[in-house]
Amino acid sequence: MAEHDFDLFVIGAGSGGVRAARIAAGYGARVAVAEEFRVGGTCVIRGCVPKKLMVYASRFHDEFEEAAGFGWTVPATMFDWSALVAAKEREITRLSAIYRNNLHKAGVEMIDGRAEVLGPNEVRILTDGRAISARTILIATGGAPVLEPDVPGRELAITSNEVFDLPAMPRRLLIVGAGYIAVEFASIFARLGSRVALASRGENVLRGFDEDMRCGVRDALQAAGVETHFSHLPTAIEKTGEELKVSLTSGLSLDVDQVLLATGRRPSTPGLGLETVGVALDGVGAVVVDEFSRSSVPSIYAVGDATNRMALTPIAIREGHAFADSVFGDRPTPVRHEHVATAVFTTPELGVVGLTEAQAREACDCVDVYMASFRPMKATLSGSAQKTTMKIVVNGKTDVVLGVHILGEGAAEIIQAVAIAVRLGAKKADFDATVAVHPTAAEELVTMRTRTARYERATPGPEAPDAMPSEA
Ligand code: FAD
Ligand code: NDP
Repeated sequence: MAEHDFDLFVIGAGSGGVRAARIAAGYGARVAVAEEFRVGGTCVIRGCVPKKLMVYASRFHDEFEEAAGFGWTVPATMFDWSALVAAKEREITRLSAIYRNNLHKAGVEMIDGRAEVLGPNEVRILTDGRAISARTILIATGGAPVLEPDVPGRELAITSNEVFDLPAMPRRLLIVGAGYIAVEFASIFARLGSRVALASRGENVLRGFDEDMRCGVRDALQAAGVETHFSHLPTAIEKTGEELKVSLTSGLSLDVDQVLLATGRRPSTPGLGLETVGVALDGVGAVVVDEFSRSSVPSIYAVGDATNRMALTPIAIREGHAFADSVFGDRPTPVRHEHVATAVFTTPELGVVGLTEAQAREACDCVDVYMASFRPMKATLSGSAQKTTMKIVVNGKTDVVLGVHILGEGAAEIIQAVAIAVRLGAKKADFDATVAVHPTAAEELVTMRTRTARYERATPGPEAPDAMPSEA
């Protein structure tokens, strides 16, 4: 008789949990997964996937407008929100079923319901009160949006959890925040036909990204009609009949149909029972883990957004996979979060990998910047004012490429490939030696010869090592 009911009990069937469960089961472990909402988690159900589908929907707006320059006559267009929501729902339902089926095929037992931790080797299923024991427990519960700022009437606002299934498209929408979610939805709704305002505590969008790219995204949002209220936040939200009246710190008041709070996410750990069993959490409730995703309790591990290391789907998947390899595959695999490329799906989109110019100047004595901003070929006939901007940040002493930043059509696709070169420690000379693909926008990355700027520190500091292969 086995000592425990399962070798592994996973709480949460999102990106990290599903990957960990399948890989562990592949190593012969007896695995169960509990999910309280829908299999697939945030990414599939109310994150990356439905968001990208809406990005595609929004971009037809530009295509219709630009088609005339290429000889097309596009009759009057009309957008049907309910049709998009229904199509999106069909797709995520299909994907969720595939996830469930893959777990089933791997021999994983799926439990529909909320699970909480009772002890280092025990969980309880809330739906039926069952207690289940497991040699290892994996916390893969993800994160949830915060309802901030804490102003009167904030309960009238929605978050990204609700935005995908609104019964009607908001004619007027106020978005609070200026991070990934805020700018992506501002870009989406402005193109679908909403009047969009964005209010944020900062003076620009996307804090932490390269300054030139931040300005480019801000300009593109404004060009799409987004009304920006930087350094101003709501002080109150009131319901007046069918609409919401939002007072801002600027003294202005806005009448809107919906307010979308996009002011960050927190790990979904409250009420899980972790503190009671001695699992250390940080100030925002993230499970504190080592490079093998092990918590302060040796039998309990955590991956993905629940650990707040880097809240991106491929990171949750990588952490889940490495956990299963380490614990059940006898292949200790630490996860390092270096050279992670990321994209912001505004229009145009932003793709980045490595250091920003500011970070490079902080880390290195000598930094060279190569930057090009140009009108993409398509815009010559379409008449679009959209610009493409590319920036390469280089260690001026060693010639190693420290960061690449692209704002333009296809940037997310391009940066994925560039990330391989940056991870391998490519030099600017390697970029220069690479023959271009013509005619493309990406060829600019291998043809930028003239340095835009060189920054040298007057007093050399402790030089940070160049970007080194992360898992060498
Ligand atoms: P999740 O996928 O959130 O899964 C956690 C699961 O655990 C959920 O299904 C939840 O219901 C379940 N759960 C929680 N508590 C319990 C419990 N006690 N018992 C049972 N089940 C429980 N990332 C990208 O890389 N690219 C993008 O384009 C992108 N777009 C995004 C857009 C939006 C609007 C949002 C919100 C996020 C986006 N992300 C994107 C981030 C990405 O979705 C997350 O980083 C990723 O889903 C994290 O995976 P996870 O496995 O840690 O958690
Ligand atoms: P972000 O951390 O990206 O942005 C949060 C925004 O809210 C920032 O502008 C922040 O301002 C502001 N903010 C935070 N707290 C407050 C407050 N109390 N009052 C007012 N403003 C506040 O979070 P998101 O919610 O946009 O997204 C969560 C995470 O999900 C992202 O960080 C990312 O990891 C992931 N994601 C990834 C996507 C992708 O890969 N394309 C898309 C969507 C989400 P400040 O900058 O001043 O702190």
